[in-house]
Amino acid sequence: MRKVKKDTGSKHEPFMPDKVFSAEASVNKIIPNVLNTPQKYIQGDGVLGNLGLYLGLVGSGHTAVLLSGGGEKRFGEMVSQSLKRSGIAGTLVTFPGECSFEEIERVTELLMKERTLVDSIVAIGGGKCLDTGRGVAHRLHVPAVICPTTASTDAPCAGLSAIYFSDGKFRDVELYPLNPALVIVDTRIAAQAPVRFIVSGMGDAMATWYEARTCFQNPKGKAMLGTRPTITSVAIAELCADTLYDNGVKAVEAVRDSQVNESVERVVEANTLMSGIGFESCGLATAHCVAQGLTVIPSLHKNYLHGEMVAIGLMTHLVLEGKDDEAHKVGAFFSSVGLPAHLGQMSLNPERDMETLRKICKAAVELPFIQNEPFDVSPDSLLDAMLNAHKLGLEITRSFGDAAYLAVHGK
Ligand SMILES: [Zn+2]
Repeated sequence: MRKVKKDTGSKHEPFMPDKVFSAEASVNKIIPNVLNTPQKYIQGDGVLGNLGLYLGLVGSGHTAVLLSGGGEKRFGEMVSQSLKRSGIAGTLVTFPGECSFEEIERVTELLMKERTLVDSIVAIGGGKCLDTGRGVAHRLHVPAVICPTTASTDAPCAGLSAIYFSDGKFRDVELYPLNPALVIVDTRIAAQAPVRFIVSGMGDAMATWYEARTCFQNPKGKAMLGTRPTITSVAIAELCADTLYDNGVKAVEAVRDSQVNESVERVVEANTLMSGIGFESCGLATAHCVAQGLTVIPSLHKNYLHGEMVAIGLMTHLVLEGKDDEAHKVGAFFSSVGLPAHLGQMSLNPERDMETLRKICKAAVELPFIQNEPFDVSPDSLLDAMLNAHKLGLEITRSFGDAAYLAVHGK
């Protein structure tokens, strides 16, 4: 069993990718092509019931399981039975809900007081629980085992955590040298979540290919760690979009009845694994800058999911790049699965909210990913693209209808 060093905790060294991957750090001044993936990705109907078996892969004898209060009620018994069957000791830690440095330190210190030190961290839940688990595992130098309970974003496979202040405001992204040891996705659990989650995940995942292509084709484009994409990750990003076009509608129909079928399996894999590898290894661009820009408006941040904001971002991204035909294809897909295709579906009205839109575009162009575009992007050029994308989205909604969107949003 792995021994935990006593001098971890709050004194941990933050990981600086530039010290490893920048041209300056390299003996021959090159930026390498890097693929970021979890060590193992395990997906299937009911797989969380085998958690103990899979922990054997990392040689764990005593794990800490991070779960929210609600998660404890839903999965606590199943998880402890599974650990028991495999002879693994488990320490349950309740996750209160915010991924902050304070919370990561609290859990780290709590686990350092255990009589036998834990040799793995399992996090089961939504993004913030998973991000906290990753942060704790990094500080304790033990493998992170990440078990998402929805397919709503592509964050589970990543080697980073989004950190918030205790009051919920975004603070920073913490990067880790390695991705999680295991990512375990129980498709049954993902299919039982409200349909809006998997639909939102498709918005996040659809953008991955178009942003990956922008970064790959621009010789100056960079992925999350400042590296260049491998062609493997670019191919995965493209397969991600194709998988969604082929299976999106059928998956939504099945999840509406809490059913798992082949299409649900494929969409869950696209949203979680393909998009996760794609965004982290290839890079982000305008679509995610717009999505982040939208979060500066508190009512949007509160009422819309990440992937819904990315959907609006992707329409803008494609129009900005002059690819209106692709924007049309993407918008038609969004309409068919229930993602927003125009600003009205984000409670925004250009005639009424022009100042708000200006604010969003100003925040968006300040983000570093915007530099992955092969041309300069100003707040004005971005606003133009956003308004044209909005018009296109309105036309699409007129011909395809908004029944899917209304169904997802319970109207
Ligand atoms: Zn995203």
